[in-house]
Amino acid sequence: MSLEAQYDPENIFAKIIRDEIPSVKIHETDAILAFMDVFPQSEGHCLVIHKQAMVTNLFDVDDNDLAALTVAVKKVARAVRDGLAPDGIRVAQFNGAPAGQTVYHLHFHIIPVYEERNLGAHASGGPADTEQLEKTATKIRAAL
Ligand code: AMP
Repeated sequence: MSLEAQYDPENIFAKIIRDEIPSVKIHETDAILAFMDVFPQSEGHCLVIHKQAMVTNLFDVDDNDLAALTVAVKKVARAVRDGLAPDGIRVAQFNGAPAGQTVYHLHFHIIPVYEERNLGAHASGGPADTEQLEKTATKIRAAL
């Protein structure tokens, strides 16, 4: 998918926003949704999206929506830090398939890094156990 690709309202995050498919939610407002990544690269890997900005990537988003989104990224990253006590936190955002983007609704990754554990590969492997994701999400929610 190129950087100029048209937004597809049937992408998987649009379906999550419409509650057509399940997700393990961490934080939700009228504008923002944060939820657990189902193929986590580490314990606590989660995603933050804007629910009304139906845009494919960073270049298409309205500045006000981007501001709301990045404020939410900071809020959720802080809760990941306080709830899970990782050694570091990576915040990532990919634009276009060659850069690694696989879902074409703008999103930020929050990926906790633990010194003694290797990060998993991006968007690969089997899906995580939902119960385990719920347990981790509970810790993050408690720190919001
Ligand atoms: P990107 O490759 O930057 O577009 O990131 C998309 C992310 O969405 C990847 O880390 C995937 O593991 C994740 N993902 C794909 N499908 C789902 C889903 N149904 N629920 C939660 N995360 C998902």
